[in-house]
Amino acid sequence: MFSYRHAFHAGNHADVLKHLVLIHSVLYLQEKDGGLMLIDTHAGAGLYTLREGYATVSQEALTGIDRLSTYLRSHTGCSELAPYLDLIQGLNSKDQIELYPGSPFILATLLRTQDRLRLFELHPSDIELLENNIHQLRRNRQIEIRKEDGFAGLKSLLPPPSRRGLILIDPSYENKQDYFSLEICLTEALGRFATGSYLIWYPILQRTESIQLPQRLKAIAEKNGRSWTQVELRITHEPSKRRLQASGMFVINPVWTLNAYLEKLLPVLQTALGENAGASYGVLNSQT
Ligand code: SAM
Repeated sequence: MFSYRHAFHAGNHADVLKHLVLIHSVLYLQEKDGGLMLIDTHAGAGLYTLREGYATVSQEALTGIDRLSTYLRSHTGCSELAPYLDLIQGLNSKDQIELYPGSPFILATLLRTQDRLRLFELHPSDIELLENNIHQLRRNRQIEIRKEDGFAGLKSLLPPPSRRGLILIDPSYENKQDYFSLEICLTEALGRFATGSYLIWYPILQRTESIQLPQRLKAIAEKNGRSWTQVELRITHEPSKRRLQASGMFVINPVWTLNAYLEKLLPVLQTALGENAGASYGVLNSQT
C-alpha cells in the first residue's frame, strides 16, 4: 500500500496541469471575501527537491516544469501561467528550479487569513515530511494535517461552516481499489456539500478502470445535477511505452472562468510540453 512516493513524479507534466487548474480555481474563489475551506485528500510530502533523491531517478520534471521553463526562455508563454510560475519562483533563488511545491504547499501559500486548509496523508514517511514542510509556513492556526484515509475522512469535514470550499482529490491509483473508493467518496461528499468545487486528478492509462473513470465521474456529477469540466493533456502517444503520457482533471462545479482559462492555457501547454506530433489536449464540459 505504501509503495507510491510522489517525490518520484514531482513536477512532471501531470503535476503541471493539476497545479495550474488548482491555482486558477482557488484564486477565482478568493475573489469573494468569504472564508474558504480547502481540502487535499491525498496530500503527499508537500515540497520536493528536484535535483537530488527520488526526483532524480526518472527525472520526471523534465516532462513538466523543467520543460516548460526551458520553453519559456525562448518563447512567449501566456499570462495564465503567471501565478503558478510566480509561486515556484518564490521558492527558488537561482535560474534552475531546485524546489517544486506539491498541492498542500501551493494551497498553504495561497491561504488568506479567513481560509482554512485540511490535509490528509497516510504514508508514514510522507506525513512527517508534510508536517515539516507545512510548519515552516507558520500558518498552523489555519491548517490541520490528518494521518487518516482521505477518502473516508473527507465527509467529516463537509459541509464546511462557511459553505464555500474546494476539494482536491488526487489519489495515486496504484491500487485498483482507489477507483472505487473515489466514486464512493465523491458520492458521499456531494450528498453533504453539493456546491463545493471538486477537482479530481486521474491518469490516462490502458487499464479498464482508468478508461471508464471519466464516464463514471460524469454520471455522478449529472446524477447530482452538478456542472462539470473535463480537461486532458497528452505529451506523446507511444502505446508501447509504459510511462505516464497523459492525464486529466475532472472538475465538478468548476469556477465559471475555467473554460476560458483552459482555452488560452492548453495550446501553450501542448506546444511547450508536447514531445512530438502525438501531443494533444481536450476539454469537455457539461454545457457542450
Ligand atoms: N496531491 C499531491 C500533489 O499534487 O502534490 C500528490 C499526491 S500523490 C498523487 C498521492 C498521495 O496520497 C501519496 O502521498 C500517498 O501516500 C497518499 N495516499 C494514498 N492513499 C491515501 C489515502 N487513502 N488517504 C490519504 N492519502 C493517501
